[in-house]
Amino acid sequence: MNCTFCGGIVKNDTTEYIEKQGNYIVVIKNVPCEKCEQCGEVYFSNEVALMLEKYFKRNHRYRNRL
Ligand SMILES: [Zn+2]
Repeated sequence: MNCTFCGGIVKNDTTEYIEKQGNYIVVIKNVPCEKCEQCGEVYFSNEVALMLEKYFKRNHRYRNRL
């Protein structure tokens, strides 16, 4: 796979996923991803993107109940 931004080589890697949730920031470490060697652009597989989406939706609901 090649980077859609710069055409560089994209390799399997892990990253820290950072999401701002209102007044605080949630960091998930060691998220599997693919990262461009050249520009550092990060790509998530559909599976991982879905997992992150579910995680934050659940987190959001929990916060609303408090
Ligand atoms: Zn790139």
